[in-house]
Amino acid sequence: MKNSQKRIPLLWSLWALIVPAGLYIVYAQYPPEVLLDWELLAFIAFAVLTSLLPLNINGTPMYLVQWVTIAVFLKYGLFVEILVSQLTMLILLFRTRSASPRTERFPFNSLMFFVLSAFTGIVFFSVGGEIGSVEFSHIVIYGLLYQLVYLIANHLYLYVDDVLMKTSKTFITLDTIWDFLITLLVFPYAITLYVLEASIGIYAPMLLGLPFMVMTVVLRLYNSSEKINIDLKKAGDIGHQLADRLTQNEVIDQFVEQVSTMFKTDYAYVIDYRDNQLLVLRMFEDGKFVEMDMPALPYTKGIAGQAIAYNAPLLYGKKRQWADLVTVQMREDIESIMATPISRNNKIEGVLLVGSRKPFAFSENQLQIMEILSTYFAVSLEKAGYMEKVIAKSERCGLTKLYNYRYLDETLENSMKEIHAGTLGQLSLIMMDIDHFKSINDTYGHQSGNEILIQLADLLREAIGDEGTVARYGGEEFVILLPHYSKELALILAENLRKEIANHAFKIQQSIQNEKQADELHITMSIGVASAPEDAEDGTGIIRNADRALYTGAKQAGRNKVAAYTK
Ligand code: GH3
Ligand code: MG
Ligand code: MG
Repeated sequence: MKNSQKRIPLLWSLWALIVPAGLYIVYAQYPPEVLLDWELLAFIAFAVLTSLLPLNINGTPMYLVQWVTIAVFLKYGLFVEILVSQLTMLILLFRTRSASPRTERFPFNSLMFFVLSAFTGIVFFSVGGEIGSVEFSHIVIYGLLYQLVYLIANHLYLYVDDVLMKTSKTFITLDTIWDFLITLLVFPYAITLYVLEASIGIYAPMLLGLPFMVMTVVLRLYNSSEKINIDLKKAGDIGHQLADRLTQNEVIDQFVEQVSTMFKTDYAYVIDYRDNQLLVLRMFEDGKFVEMDMPALPYTKGIAGQAIAYNAPLLYGKKRQWADLVTVQMREDIESIMATPISRNNKIEGVLLVGSRKPFAFSENQLQIMEILSTYFAVSLEKAGYMEKVIAKSERCGLTKLYNYRYLDETLENSMKEIHAGTLGQLSLIMMDIDHFKSINDTYGHQSGNEILIQLADLLREAIGDEGTVARYGGEEFVILLPHYSKELALILAENLRKEIANHAFKIQQSIQNEKQADELHITMSIGVASAPEDAEDGTGIIRNADRALYTGAKQAGRNKVAAYTK
């Protein structure tokens, strides 16, 4: 923005220096034969209409106004063409939304249109082009020349400006190519308009203009419905992905990131609404999550408060439209804002607010799609919350269906209480760990590792039956809790298990290596045993001691062994 402070006076000075005097020189040098007639009025009318209805290609508006201005040039000459071009420039100025102020864009655009018109016209005359020619080949050749010179000069002009402003882009961009194609498409129209006008007068712009405008309108409608279709499909994909997330945090992060990418936002916030307060849950700025503690706000405050109060989505294109609403510090450079309530079962749970530095960055259509996304979000969030609770409450490991760590801990504590109360005389705990399991994963893949864990779990469950509780204690660690078992008995059981496992052929379906790999695998386990009451006072103690036996007595002694805890 600093740049534009120096740029605006400079542009105005250049404009004042060049445009009025230039216009006078052009008028004196190439005086028009006619200044205004009915045909010209019809031309101007269609030039204005065309400027009001740009086509949007890849997000860049394309103006097809040259189908009129070339014909105007060929018939009325340079001076009139400059005036018509300046008029269409004024329309573009008020029609296009841009971050730069009009006080900057007016001198820039006016100067550019003037220089382009004058330069192209002078080239046209200096190579022998004539105004009002009736010779078809002359019209086509010089008309095409005119258009090509204009096109190239235009891009050169913008390129030089980019270089001077140090926002340098490459000379040929996708926009350049589109511009070129559109120009070629428009050119026959311009020539036809000119030739036809020479023979049938004012009917020519009518005859050609009406279908041209209808075509533009149809294309614009098609373009916007196509855009909505694409966005709806994207929204559907995002919805599916959200539904697959298992934790609420994952849902929130994925949602913010996807919404931000989809609407090209610079800022995105998920704001939680509960207990009559608003709290920013997640902030995503310029493609990154930002961690920041924000104070909670009363729910009536700010843009989010507004969205809640009206229970309706909000769309703002300019800062001045929302600046009054805001009570907290917002990012200085936000211009456009979309906000939608996030509700579930008719209850508002929060607000999604996205912002862009560009003015008028978002459309009504996008706002509607954001509403749909917010609904997906609310549903996925609820589902993930439910899943989290189920997982937290569950007693089983998802992979092996054995009891999990949580369940084992509880059962163990209960058994220890019984020991202390004297209702249970003895208790033994077997802890087992697969030997070199990491290298099995490394060789056959993690999936094969999982298959082994599942089969091992089946084997253990079958072997123990009702005698005790088998649990998956950690990754490849298993615990068997055996009430009424003395240490001696537990050691015999453990030794039998060790042999059975070592002799068992584990089957694997998938191998990361080629077909030659064996589909059967053998593993061994190291095992530690501790018992209560003799080895420990409480659950933690018996586990710790069984673990100690496992590591010192079995692993360190060479693996594939059973060891009893000794004090
Ligand atoms: P050690 O004989 O010393 O026990 O060697 P190790 O490789 O078995 O021991 P370590 O503790 O270094 O590695 C355990 C490995 O078990 C690490 C991890 O790759 C694997 N593992 C843990 N949980 C799972 C699981 O759920 N599935 C699979 N496939 N592998 C797991
Ligand atoms: Mg281990
Ligand atoms: Mg291991």
